[in-house]
Amino acid sequence: MEKKTAVYICSGCGIGDALDIEQLGKVARDEGSIPICRHHPNLCSQEGAGLIKKDIEEEAANALIIAACSHRVMYDVFDFENCIVDRVNLREQVAWCHKPGDENTQMMAEDYLRMSMAKVKNMELPEAYKPEAEISRDILVVGGGLTGMTSALAAAKAGYSVVLVEKAPELGGFQRNVKQIATFPYKAPQDNPLGDLIEAVTRHEKITAYTGASVEKTAGSPGLFDVTISQNGSTSKHRVGAVVVAAGWEPYDPKKLDAKLGFGTSPNVITNAIFEESFKEGHIARPSDGKDIVNAAFLQCAGQRDARHLPYCSTVCCTTALKQALRIKGQNPDANIFVVYKEMRTPGQAEDLYRKAQEAGVIFIRCQDPQVMANGGSLAVEAEDEMLGEVVLLDSLDLVVLATGMVPVTAFGKDIAKEEKEKKEKEKKEEEELEVPLDVIRRSNILNLEYRQGPELPALRYDFPDSHFICFPYESRRTGIYAAGCVRRPMGIGSSKEDAAGAVMKAIQCIELTSRGAAVHPRAGDLSFPEFAMQRCTQCKRCTVECPFGAINEDAEFNPLPQPTRCRRCGVCMGACPERIISFKNYSVAMIGAMIKAIEVPEEDEEKPRILVLACENDAYGALDMAGLHRMNYNPWVRVIPMRCLGSMNLVWIADSMSRGIDGVILLGCKHGDDYQCHFVKGSELADIRLSKVSETLDRLALESDRVRYETVSIIDYDRLPALLDEFAKKIDEIGPNPFKGW
Ligand code: SF4
Ligand code: SF4
Repeated sequence: MEKKTAVYICSGCGIGDALDIEQLGKVARDEGSIPICRHHPNLCSQEGAGLIKKDIEEEAANALIIAACSHRVMYDVFDFENCIVDRVNLREQVAWCHKPGDENTQMMAEDYLRMSMAKVKNMELPEAYKPEAEISRDILVVGGGLTGMTSALAAAKAGYSVVLVEKAPELGGFQRNVKQIATFPYKAPQDNPLGDLIEAVTRHEKITAYTGASVEKTAGSPGLFDVTISQNGSTSKHRVGAVVVAAGWEPYDPKKLDAKLGFGTSPNVITNAIFEESFKEGHIARPSDGKDIVNAAFLQCAGQRDARHLPYCSTVCCTTALKQALRIKGQNPDANIFVVYKEMRTPGQAEDLYRKAQEAGVIFIRCQDPQVMANGGSLAVEAEDEMLGEVVLLDSLDLVVLATGMVPVTAFGKDIAKEEKEKKEKEKKEEEELEVPLDVIRRSNILNLEYRQGPELPALRYDFPDSHFICFPYESRRTGIYAAGCVRRPMGIGSSKEDAAGAVMKAIQCIELTSRGAAVHPRAGDLSFPEFAMQRCTQCKRCTVECPFGAINEDAEFNPLPQPTRCRRCGVCMGACPERIISFKNYSVAMIGAMIKAIEVPEEDEEKPRILVLACENDAYGALDMAGLHRMNYNPWVRVIPMRCLGSMNLVWIADSMSRGIDGVILLGCKHGDDYQCHFVKGSELADIRLSKVSETLDRLALESDRVRYETVSIIDYDRLPALLDEFAKKIDEIGPNPFKGW
């Protein structure tokens, strides 16, 4: 693309009061030889944006540098079709957080303008990736329970054809066992409406349901998934655009519970799941002899919130106990029903059901450690009542119901990463040396993905498929595959329905964006994708191993085989490649390198150190904007470059910075680990691992390792950022100037 660059400087929002706008224009014209340079008191106004549009139309300007507010705001105003647009953040990160009229503030603004000019010079307009084959708009839903069926129906109603696969001979999942449900408005247990849902799904012309079936293989990528379904010994193939995994849960195995809870000591000690199955039809009776229930106890949190069993709360068991207690009361109002709980968790309107149970005479006993005592035909529970401060004995019990929790079906099967690791440890293969954290991926026969990284979705803590519960629920690390319902986290009926709708929305979004050649969440709409200069590839496998999303396979010769529709455009592969042969049209090692080189580094005697901040644009960059928004001041020596993800950081930038005379580099990324906040899941962790090797580079340059630091920040940490940057600047000052200054 032949570029004609134009610079537009806004003097509104306090920028004009803080900076010498004329001088900034001079930098653009004299240093950057920019043919068009204008300023305006309010660039985001109709008149301001009109000025830019006029230049596009009349002057053929097509590479636009807008020096005004942060790129995080006004993106729709400054979105010009078929033009490269770069935003110089003069407002939030210069004028609003540094001394107005100060020499250092002006130097900072000028540097940012230089960096933008270098950036624009090194970027091209991205072109959308269009696969040769036509993108499928069909959706595969795996799991025909409540969540799966709700997903299928929601997708079908939105006009998308659905292939629904259920492993059981009939649709319905666990809810088939349930007579009554406890859900909104929680006034009383309600009859289970599952039959209506099954009928609606079965009748819908856009839904093809396979029961007694499983997914034998899922190959391909978003828009182009090829699914093989096996049913009764025959197979059928479908091409789908996206997948919703609603494979559900299994009850925790009660045989694993502590002996004191008495499972197995009497047929009258059952679990909440067994209660539903046993008493779906007819009378609730004593399992041992079918006699009426006169005395019953429900023991909550059986093996839940307990590090030795399920460390989490399954969220539905307290409400389920209330429902089951009320069912017994409905049958025999004089029955003595006790609920022994650690804490009753009936959030929101479920509290009404709790009140209803109290009114019906259910007795609640708060106790942390009840003991079941079964002796011949007699059954009792001993519990230390925290309210009364004494031990109570609930004897002559006909039934004890243990509230066991939900385990995602993804928890079953063999951990293939562990298997692989053990195998590699034996073989001492090179991949072992890559030091990339291994994912938990089990061979659990849900999707049978044909991915280099393994056959199922990677899981985080407790084997729930990977997904960030705040920022990106439903997302998995396999683009286009979304988890919903109890396979994602324990939940009740209301939440499962919401989840079903949410996951389908994501699947539809994936199909629509993929068909336009654009990225899905979190860089939704991004048209760029990584390009590989394969002639220089050494087949080192770093990119294939480090891509957090399995978007790069490899061929028989170990050459990387990119799968562009799986790609999230994070740039982690670009940061990983030691040969620096992976780049995007608008994001590359060379581009960031040029930005670093554009920073003016004052001579040592000027005593103006320079600190490069590589900030993840998802949280850290936003936090810096927030600091500006709150008019918090911080050190003016810093120069910030936003990163798609810190995982895209290539170590060569650190070496470039140091050899340029930059005094310190600080990396601001998202938290990693089980409670990760990294939008690209592994990016910040990989950056941290790479950085651990930077000391070798610094040693080679005879520089102190304290010159480079890594910090994790989230957007809400904006108030600690100024102190953090000031403290780092102080440290750099103490270390002294970079000896490469002026070289
Ligand atoms: S690392 Fe990121 S940018 Fe590279 S292929 Fe994987 S998803 Fe795409
Ligand atoms: S990281 Fe670079 S050199 Fe290594 S396999 Fe990937 S593209 Fe090739």
